[in-house]
Amino acid sequence: ERLNNSILENLPPEVIKPAYDRSEVTTGIVHLGIGAFHRAHQAWYTENRITAGEKDWGIVGASLRSAGVRDQLVPQNGLYSVVEKSNAGTKVQIVGAVSDVYVAPESPQQLLELLAQESVRIVSLTITEKGYCHDPASGNLNPQHPDVVHDLENPQQPKSALGFIVGALQLRKERGLPGFTVLSCDNLPSNGHLLGRVLSQYAEKVDSELATWIADNTTTPATMVDRIVPATTDEDRNELESILGCRDEAAVMAEPFSQWVVEDNFLRGRPEWDKAGAMFVDDVEVYELIKLRLLNGSHSMLAYSGYLAGCETVADVMAEPAFNKLALHFMQTEATTSIDVPADFDIAAYQAQLIERFENRALRHRTWQIAMDGSQKIPQRWLGTLRQQLANDGPIDVVSFALANWIRYVSAVDEQGNEIEVSDPLAAELKALCDQYKSQGARKLAAAFLAFTPVFGDDLRESARLQEKLSDWLQKLETEGTLACARKYFAEI
Ligand code: NAD
Repeated sequence: ERLNNSILENLPPEVIKPAYDRSEVTTGIVHLGIGAFHRAHQAWYTENRITAGEKDWGIVGASLRSAGVRDQLVPQNGLYSVVEKSNAGTKVQIVGAVSDVYVAPESPQQLLELLAQESVRIVSLTITEKGYCHDPASGNLNPQHPDVVHDLENPQQPKSALGFIVGALQLRKERGLPGFTVLSCDNLPSNGHLLGRVLSQYAEKVDSELATWIADNTTTPATMVDRIVPATTDEDRNELESILGCRDEAAVMAEPFSQWVVEDNFLRGRPEWDKAGAMFVDDVEVYELIKLRLLNGSHSMLAYSGYLAGCETVADVMAEPAFNKLALHFMQTEATTSIDVPADFDIAAYQAQLIERFENRALRHRTWQIAMDGSQKIPQRWLGTLRQQLANDGPIDVVSFALANWIRYVSAVDEQGNEIEVSDPLAAELKALCDQYKSQGARKLAAAFLAFTPVFGDDLRESARLQEKLSDWLQKLETEGTLACARKYFAEI
């Protein structure tokens, strides 16, 4: 039997359940891209507020791609478990904040109408980095993006989040309704600012009067989100079934830690997420930098080097002392020193906490999953650190080691000669670069990558120091392998 409203009562007492009447909750939030992360993060904070009586902030989710999540959630009346896992044990909470899930490609019109409903005051997003249809190096809308081209030609049948949001705002304008707050919860630097810019550039292409109305009738607060939520596996679902006594196809696994820093700039109110542990601040940027460069930066480094070394999960990578030490060393010497950390923020404690979180064996966070979409992630995870260190003449050993591992990874062949299934919108271009330059030696390969502007912009190719470091690492990886390199060249740290 599947989890649903009628069997909530029968669940074991240690499972936390919605303690409110779900039929009284109305929709205040539409979430685009209702993947695992939203369910374990924003929806989980919102559940806390609905439980406290804020019943006009219910969530309807939408998927802009496949029907998978709808087929998981709708037969369960939107109910799902958040399973908190750590080396200390497991805690299960059933969340009831999501009432329905729409599948945009099946009926774009229905989603446009939902977004145009007056009660909807927040439209939030976790659509992954590539969902913003921007050029990651410049942060501007990519007007050649196939979804952008499609949506501008077919405004009634959009595919992209931008097409839906601008289309819905146009309906609201025509109907004399107010706008809404658009809340990006993706891992992107200045995510709110970026979203505001691409929305405005997109709207400008539709109609400049609409673009002006949107600027006056929406806000796009920045957010910093942090909770490790790996993709759920069948094994996770089977294990949960033995706890719940019923099947939950929509369950998500998460670590106990959760952090949400939000710029307090909401147009028509917001849930009191701060009472559920979120932090509202005037300037999110520095928290975001800390998180992107320390957490995400070391996570990506562990993912590429770990994958190449044959490690399936981040906890496996951390079990290798050379990589474990390297992660902390990277945070301390390169990532942290690239940021102006607020004096009252205990960065040493934060670093130690990150190491502990990465060592969580109960979460099987696959290196392959973190390694996805590197071309979109690397600019904000590594290149800010790199640019700052180059400007200061500071250390770049680990960040260039990480880059060399990424280049090895996107060559799509691992250290044993096996094929890697590289999932990245630029996978073909990146592999072609590797294939073209590999036989010409590490120097040429390094130069070719640093000149690849979609990832590296126009400036990094100018650094002779970086070019030398990177080609040196490429050469060493090629001859010695990543684990041997981590052990040998970072033996002193
Ligand atoms: P997921 O694979 O479960 O969900 C991804 C969602 O994005 C799906 O709904 C998918 O349909 C949608 N999507 C993918 N490409 C899209 C596109 N081009 N346009 C529109 N929608 C698109 O992944 P997740 O774990 O939910 O992570 C989603 C995002 O959340 C991440 O990319 C990241 O920005 C953020 N995040 C995740 C974590 C985590 O630990 N999982 C932590 C912090 C932040």
